[in-house]
This record gives sequence, structure tokens and C-alpha cells, in this order.
Amino acid sequence: MLKGSSTLLAIYLYFAYAPDHYNLARPLDLRHPPTFVNDLKLRLGGDERCYQALARAGIELERLPDESKGPGCGFEGVARLDQSIITWGQGITLKCQMLAGIAWWERHTLQPIAQELFGSPVQRVRHFGTYACRNVNNDSDGRRSEHATANAVDVAGFVLADGKEISVVADWGEASPEGRFLERVHDRACDHFDTVLGPDYNELHRDHFHFDNGGYETCQ
Ligand SMILES: [Zn+2]
Repeated sequence: MLKGSSTLLAIYLYFAYAPDHYNLARPLDLRHPPTFVNDLKLRLGGDERCYQALARAGIELERLPDESKGPGCGFEGVARLDQSIITWGQGITLKCQMLAGIAWWERHTLQPIAQELFGSPVQRVRHFGTYACRNVNNDSDGRRSEHATANAVDVAGFVLADGKEISVVADWGEASPEGRFLERVHDRACDHFDTVLGPDYNELHRDHFHFDNGGYETCQ
């Protein structure tokens, strides 16, 4: 009896007092750090709750109609992002969980690390796009890439507010602040996306980081 009531009390105290990012009863807020509870809310909440979380974080998006573009290609539930706290030149079209991962990565990884190493925030991300109707590694046969369903993005570099350029092709692996920046933002991306691939993975990725949420957990 006593044990039962102390369990109920513990449950009550959890829902009443646990901070939002550890509390399943509170709506997802992308301004809070990406804890395992927040990650669970994102993955189980569905697209509408995900888009509500992006709106709550002040991120403006244009929702796009679903499109089928041939065998294994096209997208559902995507939106276009031009500008969050960082500019994505020419915009990116992605599924909501990818956009939420990007929001977390920008706020909790890119900006703090840029401030720490360079004293200047990232202003622009250079990228090679998101949607492309193609197979993994551009193979003529084989399975479709996550790019074929707008579930992946290729990041090529960064421009800081002070004008400094950092690029994967030029700075990856260098013993410089730029090289350390790239290594850290690559490694931390693994907290936000299922699959993270960079120049150490293969020659095709020598000039960009690939992030996707296809369900295959790897960090290379
Ligand atoms: Zn890619």
C-alpha cells in the first residue's frame, strides 16, 4: 500500500516538476537541449507536433504539397527552410524530423562551437542540396538514397558573421581551428541524425558531410 502510494507520488512529482526537456507531458521545445526524452517526443510525436515545435522555436517554413516523382522518388510531409538562426542559401526542402535535427544542431552545436573557437557565430551554411532522385553513392543499381525522399542534406561549409569561410574540402583533417571546428560539428551531428558521413567515410564525401534520418545508425 505504502509502496503503491510512493510510486504514484513519484509519478506525480515527475510530471509536475521535471524540467520540460526531461518531461514527456510537456510539448517539445527545440530551444531546449536534445535529451533522450526530447528525442522520443520528436520521433513519436508525428509531423504535426514536429512542425508545431519548429513554429514554437520561431523557425519559419513553407509547407510543400506531397509529390510522387517516379519509382522510389518524391516526398511527403516536407517543408522548405530558407532562414533559421542561420541562412541556408537557396533554401532546403526536408522532412520535419530532419529540420528539427538541424534546428538542434545549429543552436546547441554550431553556434556554441563557433563562438568558442572564433568568437563569431555561423551566418550561412553552404550546402549541396537535399532532394535528388538517385541511388546510394549514385550507383546505377542498388537502393534509393535518403536524398530521393528529401530525408538527407549535404553540408559543404560555413561562413561566419566575421566573413571567415570554413569548407569541408579545404579544412577537414587540418590541425587548425577550422579543422577542429569541422571535427567537432561533424561528431556532434551524430547526436541529431541517424546517419552522419564525412570525408573519412569515402572519396565521394571528401567535400561534404551527409546527414540523414533513414534509421541506419552510423557516425563516420
Ligand atoms: Zn548526401
